[in-house]
Amino acid sequence: MVQVAARRLEMEEFEVPKVGVSEGLLRVTACGLCGSDVEQYRGHFAEKGLAEYPVIPGHEPVGTIEELGAEAEARWGVRVGDRVALQPVISCGRCADCLSGAHHLCKGMFQMASPAYGYLPTTIGHGLWGGYGEYIHLHERTLMHRLPENVPNEMATMYQALAAGIRWAVAVPGAGFSDTVLVMGCGQRGLASVVALKAAGVSEIVVTGLKRDAFKFRLAREFGATHTIVADEEDTIDRVMEITGGRGVDIAVDVVPTDTRVIGHAVEVVRPGGTIVVAGVKGGNNMATLDTDRMVYKEITLKAVFTQGADMYRAGIDLLARNLERLAPMHTHEMPLEQAERAIQMLGGEIPGEEAICISLHP
Ligand SMILES: [Zn+2]
Ligand SMILES: [Zn+2]
Repeated sequence: MVQVAARRLEMEEFEVPKVGVSEGLLRVTACGLCGSDVEQYRGHFAEKGLAEYPVIPGHEPVGTIEELGAEAEARWGVRVGDRVALQPVISCGRCADCLSGAHHLCKGMFQMASPAYGYLPTTIGHGLWGGYGEYIHLHERTLMHRLPENVPNEMATMYQALAAGIRWAVAVPGAGFSDTVLVMGCGQRGLASVVALKAAGVSEIVVTGLKRDAFKFRLAREFGATHTIVADEEDTIDRVMEITGGRGVDIAVDVVPTDTRVIGHAVEVVRPGGTIVVAGVKGGNNMATLDTDRMVYKEITLKAVFTQGADMYRAGIDLLARNLERLAPMHTHEMPLEQAERAIQMLGGEIPGEEAICISLHP
């Protein structure tokens, strides 16, 4: 499924490419969708020069190694038939970011803003760079992770959500036992944050969402949230202060798409010396006025996060494999690849009556 313009995907046929000695071919078994698939579909990335058409979207692919060059087999430590999940960013391995371990921030390959599976246009090389297809031609610089046998394909597509939850809510802010953490947003990243925080032993987890998110609130509580706040019915700041006895939270994690006001709320409800993690992309609505004086007086740490590295992917896959049954309700829809547009619209809340959290596409 090729994206040719904003809000337009078309089915196209490509030749299955020949595999070089240092490359591989992945038969995609499923591809996960996240909030950035919605942004990409709506054309927000292309508007900002972060994406080009035509492109095969899909940056959360899992699949089976179908072909493998001899050098690739040695480098990746996988065999034909192995099931793997890909890291989306194709990193150069030589730049300052790569050498410091931040492969996920590498811009070295292809001289473009998003040198990643799901974002490289079909005009580069063989064109098969996205998870919305039957095959991905694996570039020699691909980073991949083998999937445990017990994880079914549709569940495996949640590997990125969980890796994000672990990094954004736990690892980056350093969340621990005695912390109270506010997770702003209860979509897949918000719920994954709750799962990760609970696994890390965090005692108080407060989650915000909207009136329409009753189903997600229920899951959040099952996963370990101690309090939920209906942000379009209640005053987030008042409620957090009430819950924390006026002290504020140690950490606030913003995984809300589009709405910039939540960062202002976070500044108000984080305790002095606390940390705010910003992850939710606002689709270009970046007009939030930030009370920086308040941040100064409270000595707030503000950290922005974008995707994650190999350690977090491994941790995410492990968390998934150990909690399959408990996490199963988070995977709400399994859809055929042909229905990619409908799947994205569903995730973006454009189809009334559909309560989607994690959706996987299957060729
Ligand atoms: Zn994603
Ligand atoms: Zn690099």
